[in-house]
Amino acid sequence: MKADPFEKPWHGLESERTPALALANTLDWRLREKPIELLRDYSELVRWARSVDALEPTEARALRAWAEEHPRAAARVLAEAIEVREAIAAIAGALMKGRTLPSAPLARLDQACHAAHEHRALRPGGTGARWVWRDPSPDPHRPVWAAALDAERILTSADAARVRQCGDAECGWFFLDTSRNKSRRWCSMEACGNRNKARRFYKRAAGRGGH
Ligand SMILES: [Zn+2]
Repeated sequence: MKADPFEKPWHGLESERTPALALANTLDWRLREKPIELLRDYSELVRWARSVDALEPTEARALRAWAEEHPRAAARVLAEAIEVREAIAAIAGALMKGRTLPSAPLARLDQACHAAHEHRALRPGGTGARWVWRDPSPDPHRPVWAAALDAERILTSADAARVRQCGDAECGWFFLDTSRNKSRRWCSMEACGNRNKARRFYKRAAGRGGH
């Protein structure tokens, strides 16, 4: 059987698998004058959600079929996802700088969390209970709700102090620094670490050449 292209891993997920920050990173090169939008249509949002395990393969297929039948409604849900993404990015930016969280982005996130909770139910599971989605077929907002609930979890836990942004001047990717001495600087060594190290090396070499 041919591999489903929607199972192709999302760009850059090796550096961040937490849905909230991975959603923020779908605006690539965020710190450039012209960042690159990776969520160009609803089906890309579905592929992203599949990559962060926010949807099962059958749910992803159902939502892709729904989007093909309802392109305008799908475009509206995508626009909402981008709003919530930008709210998460603004909140993450404030967190890193130790600033009070901005009220409009926090209100947007709060709204998305409430919508998500309305669609969840507490059911027996494991040794206690767990949250499951109430809807028998997935609501088209599931990708954005998964990111919103993950943002809620980060903000209300010790992870809030671990939110970082890549040290590259243009990359702008967010990640959770889980290193023991809280010293991670780059989204990934391969993507930004090596490039920046090489740049510093050449600068030093060029500086020496002048003397
Ligand atoms: Zn980076």
